[in-house]
Amino acid sequence: MSIILVPIGKVDPVEMQALQASLATAFSGDVVPKKKIPLPATARNTARDQYDAEVVLEYLSLSGEIGGCDRVLGVTDVDLYLPGMNFVFGLAGRRNAVISLYRLRQSFYGLPEDVGVFRRRATVEAVHELGHTFGLAHCDDPRCVMRFSNTISETDVKGPAFCPVCRPRVRAGEATGR
Ligand SMILES: [Zn+2]
Ligand SMILES: [Zn+2]
Repeated sequence: MSIILVPIGKVDPVEMQALQASLATAFSGDVVPKKKIPLPATARNTARDQYDAEVVLEYLSLSGEIGGCDRVLGVTDVDLYLPGMNFVFGLAGRRNAVISLYRLRQSFYGLPEDVGVFRRRATVEAVHELGHTFGLAHCDDPRCVMRFSNTISETDVKGPAFCPVCRPRVRAGEATGR
């Protein structure tokens, strides 16, 4: 099992490295960084000044980075949305997922920057979306990484770890290559 990490558009390489290390810890597999791909112009909604997460995910899946049973995580620093939602932290498909770093910085909320908090949030969102690609649904345990979060405070309540119910399901998902 390996996870491929793809920056989409301009993303700080230092943050990509930090995410690579934290995902290697969170999952039992290799995390392989790949070259960045551009943001698809078709995903841009100029009126909202946001990118359609579905279109970005589709673009990622067509980028040719996926092979075998690998999971692909795209990371972008632009704001993502879905029609009918103000924003999303991330989105998962069957084997591909994408997260946005845009709303994970303290500065977004008018607070002093805290790189530790930012990286924890990035890991939580990345593990959550990858969890979906292993077949996991949302979990009711508020501390489980698979809990749905709609606000940054909900992201901060949960940690990057799977609860005892979800953890074996990830292993099962890894084994079947689902
Ligand atoms: Zn989710
Ligand atoms: Zn859980």
